[in-house]
Parts: sequence; structure tokens; C-alpha cells
Amino acid sequence: MKIGVAKAQLETYDLCIVGTGPAGIILALEYQRLQPRHRILLIEYGTNRATARNHLDDSINILEPQNHHSPYECTNKGLGGSSASWGGRCVMYDEIDFQPRKILNGACTWNAALFHEAKKFAGQASAYFECGDARFNLDEIPTFAGSHIAEGFQGGEVTDSSIERYSLPTHFGKRYRAELDSSQAIQLLTGWEAFAFEVISEAGVISKMAIRNFSRTRTAKVTARKFVLAAGAQETTRLLLKNPQVFQKAGGQPAALGKYYQGHISGKIASVCFHGDPQKTDHGFLLTPEGVYLRRRLQLSPATMLENNLLNTALWLDNSLYLDPQHRNGAMSFMYLAMITPWLGKMLAPPAIAKSITRGKIVGIPQHIGNILKDLPQSLTIPATTFYARYCRKRKLPGVFLYSPRNVYALHFHGEQVPVPENRMELAPDGETLNISYRYTDQDVASVIRTHEVLDQWLRRCKCGELDYWFPKDELPAAIRSMSTDGLHQVGTTRIAATAGEGVVDENLKVWGTTNLHVCSSSVFPTSGQANPTYLLGVFAVRLAHKLSSDSPR
Ligand SMILES: Cc1cc2nc3c(=O)[nH]c(=O)nc-3n(C[C@H](O)[C@H](O)[C@H](O)COP(=O)(O)OP(=O)(O)OC[C@H]3O[C@@H](n4cnc5c(N)ncnc54)[C@H](O)[C@@H]3O)c2cc1C
Repeated sequence: MKIGVAKAQLETYDLCIVGTGPAGIILALEYQRLQPRHRILLIEYGTNRATARNHLDDSINILEPQNHHSPYECTNKGLGGSSASWGGRCVMYDEIDFQPRKILNGACTWNAALFHEAKKFAGQASAYFECGDARFNLDEIPTFAGSHIAEGFQGGEVTDSSIERYSLPTHFGKRYRAELDSSQAIQLLTGWEAFAFEVISEAGVISKMAIRNFSRTRTAKVTARKFVLAAGAQETTRLLLKNPQVFQKAGGQPAALGKYYQGHISGKIASVCFHGDPQKTDHGFLLTPEGVYLRRRLQLSPATMLENNLLNTALWLDNSLYLDPQHRNGAMSFMYLAMITPWLGKMLAPPAIAKSITRGKIVGIPQHIGNILKDLPQSLTIPATTFYARYCRKRKLPGVFLYSPRNVYALHFHGEQVPVPENRMELAPDGETLNISYRYTDQDVASVIRTHEVLDQWLRRCKCGELDYWFPKDELPAAIRSMSTDGLHQVGTTRIAATAGEGVVDENLKVWGTTNLHVCSSSVFPTSGQANPTYLLGVFAVRLAHKLSSDSPR
């Protein structure tokens, strides 16, 4: 139920959760299911009222903006958090992401046992995400087992059976609002920001949390037996940086706090040309009998990754660049023109996604119009049917991938980054501003290039296809660095580790040095793998609900 601040101050809650993105909402609902008599306070900074600006995003400073989106493009504030604009792409981490590897230079501070234990909660997570079940390999799904991405492809050094699943895309605020409103156990306080903790330092117990209203004109305090920070990676990290007293029992703020910030390196540097029957290429979505959209991801096998000392990278078939009229595809030209039309583009995609399609450039308008006229009526019918499937259905078509009669597709890479301390979030001297440093390392870039080479060799060995690079070899590193931007996937800054010397939280997501403060954010992941992070975060949210519940009497 929704409450005001006066009521929130009166109770001692069993659990207080900061933030109502996917992590906070899944945690609250799952904990309520396990402990229906407990009282949960869910605090959300945003109000969902139209406010053009907010203090939190206004006080984030991206020091090197070349590869990082601006703060307002990276997160949303309000019930549901950034699920208000996410793509709904649900991807599972791989076991190798949890294993120490030479290329990670000792920065992999979690382990495969944790992966297998967490996976037990994946079924429940899939239900919250509305993405079907928790099988992420086509060979485990009878309808698709043994099928391949293209005629002649064989699994081996490269695999084609890993998949991404798609949620509706589920906007957690809209989807779970009624359940939260009608709950007696969950009390929802919106328009209030957590900013400080009172600590009984010698015991490491957080006794109270200070909050302030959206306009920062009023403050209040709330009391709970347990606190969870689920405020998204940036804000969770900032809260911990602002409150060093939390770590007194652990001997001070952990050295890893705010460091090892990772996202993904992503873009397109080559096309894949398949030699077989174009009709037999899985270029688009697969649909399960329940109507869930799936899509294949090409990956190197774990053994090949280790042998070549490479980072984990997924690749998928994509359209050529929309903005380049050389594709001569009327439907693509029409969609590009729609995306660069200011008011229409804003309606069709969140700014970060629109930018990744248009690259923020307006080019070749006469040629695009020529493409549209040449391909009539498909130039209009394909966008019209796509528009209906993508914007008017409950389960929306997650993207647009057009069939190539030439059997040639752009190849989109999405790669892991090496966790380095130089990529970090830290407080500015004013004690409020969050400075973010984020770049790609030479190893990130080299791994993308070598992964393409291994894939090319494999396709040629299968006699199934080959890569056609878009840039001369010596220009690839610069091209990759200039095309890749993240900040949407935020990993690493409060990482899990076995000691406070190496990380910020333990395997149960409890902050080192405290007895009752936990973090539920992708910031706890020490490595970024190839996977978009929110699905695993949902798995960890379900797992945390079970851990917290089993620590408490009913
Ligand atoms: C355009 C876009 C597309 C994306 N697509 C995908 C995708 O397809 N797949 C994928 O896996 N991920 C995707 N992501 C990332 C995904 O949205 C995030 O990983 C996910 O939302 C993180 O969930 P969260 O609950 O940790 O944080 P958030 O969703 O960011 O929610 C945190 C909430 O906490 C609130 N808050 C912050 N600070 C405070 C405070 N001090 N006090 C009270 N409340 C506070 C915020 O207002 C916010 O509502 C995308 C992101 C963007 C922006």
C-alpha cells in the first residue's frame, strides 16, 4: 500500500528496501510471499510525475563521455526504475564468467559454486520477468534442439545454441503496481531519497536510515531490522561512498568500492556472409509455443576462449547500418527517417537506443527517399506491420531484423570488459557529485578483434560462411573505440568477494562490516561476461529474498 512519510517514521520494519527497479520490486514481492506477516518498507526516489530534471542525475559527472551515455540516458527514476525504458533482453551469465581466467588478472572474485547455487532461483526470476522458463540453450528445448543458425553450421569452437529470452518488455512499475498497492505487507513511500545511515559502529548494525524528499526541503528517519540497497549501481555505490561510517567494523571503506566499473563493448565491424540456402538462416526471432521471443547468440566455446585468452563475447545477426543508404532497403530507409524525426524518434525508442541506431547523424536523405520509392509498397507495409507488432501488442516484437535474400548480415558484437580499477565511480570533493571514469582497455578491443578472427576461421572450416570486414585491419581498434558506448549495463563497483580486502559484499550480498545491510544491484557482479545484467540481477533478488527470509523467524 502507498503511504506517507509520517506513517513510515512510526514503524520498525522487518525489511527496508531502497529503490523500486526490477531488483527492489522482485525482492519485495518474493520476500512478501515467504514472510506474509512481515512489514516491508519500499522507498523510491522518483515520483512518476513529469519532472524534467532530478538532483541525482544532475550530480553525475561523466569524466570521459566518448564511451558513456549521459546520466539521463542511463537510468530512469520512479516506480519500476530503468525498466521504464529497458529492452527486456534477458540473458543468463555463463559458468566461465565465474571462473578465474588469466585475462581477468585476478579480478574474478566470485566462483562457479555460487553460479550453480544462484541458478536454482532462475525459474522464479523468469516468472517475474515474464520471459518463459529458465532454459538458455536451444538444445535443452525440444522444439529447437539440434537446429542451427545457418545451413552447414556445426557447433564446436563456436556455438550457436545460447539464447536471449525477451520479457514483454516488462515495465516493473506498471506490471506490479496493483500488487504493491493492494499489499498489506509492503508499504510504498515514493518521492523520498535515502541519503545517510545511523550505525551502532562497534556491532556493525544499521539502526536508522535518513531520507529526504525529492526537492530536498525536508528530512526524516526510518527504522528497520534489515536494509537492502537496490537503488541501481550508480546510486547504490554513491550511497556507500557517502557513508564511510557503515564500514567502521570492517576497518574502513573497502578499497574495491566504486572501482572495477564495467559494462559492455559493443558495435559492428563486419558482415557475415553465409554460403547456404538463405531461407535456412535463423536471422530473426524464434517463438516458443507459449509465445515468448528467443534469439540465438554466437559464442566461442569456453575451451576456445581459455585457449586464446579471450574475454566472453556474444555475437548476433543484425541489419546493416540503418543510416547508410547503400543498404538499398526501402523499409530500413523509412525506419531511419522515422527515427531521426525528432518527436517521432522519441516515441519509438529511448534516447540511448535511438542513438545506437541513428548514431545521432542525419545523412543521405535523398538516397533514403530513393530507396523508399524503389521498394514500394514493401517500404511502407513492412514498417506498418512491424509498428503494430512492436508497439500495439502486449508481448511486443523486441526488435526488427530483416531477411537478407543475399544471406549477408551485419554481425553485432557484445563483449565483456577486463575489470580495471581505473574505470570507477568516486565522490567529488563536495561529497555529493559522483564522478564516473569509463573507457575501454586495449585488451577489451583486442579480444573483440580476435573473437571475430576465430569465428571467421570456424565458419570457413565448416564451409558455411565467412566474415567481410567493414574496415582495414589496422583501423579496427580505432573503429571499435569510436563506435562503442555503454553506461546502461552497470557492473562491478560493489563487487562480491570472500574478504573485505577484495570486495564490498559477501556471497550473501551483505556489506562487509555490517550485520544488516545488503546490496541488490548488478554492481555486485565482479565480471560483466557477455550477458546483459538484469536477468541475473533478478535471480540474485529472488535468492536474497530467500536468504533474508530464512534468517528471520516467521
Ligand atoms: C535504454 C536501456 C535499455 C536497457 N536494456 C536492457 C536489456 O535489454 N536487458 C538488460 O538486462 N538490461 C537492460 N538495461 C539495464 C537495466 O535497465 C538495468 O540493469 C536494471 O533496470 C537495473 O535494475 P535495478 O533495480 O538495479 O535499478 P534501476 O532499474 O535503475 O532502479 C533503481 C531505482 O532506485 C531509485 N533510487 C535511486 N537512488 C535512490 C535513493 N537514494 N533513494 C531512493 N530511491 C533511489 C531510482 O529512482 C530507481 O527507480 C537497459 C537500460 C536502459 C537505460
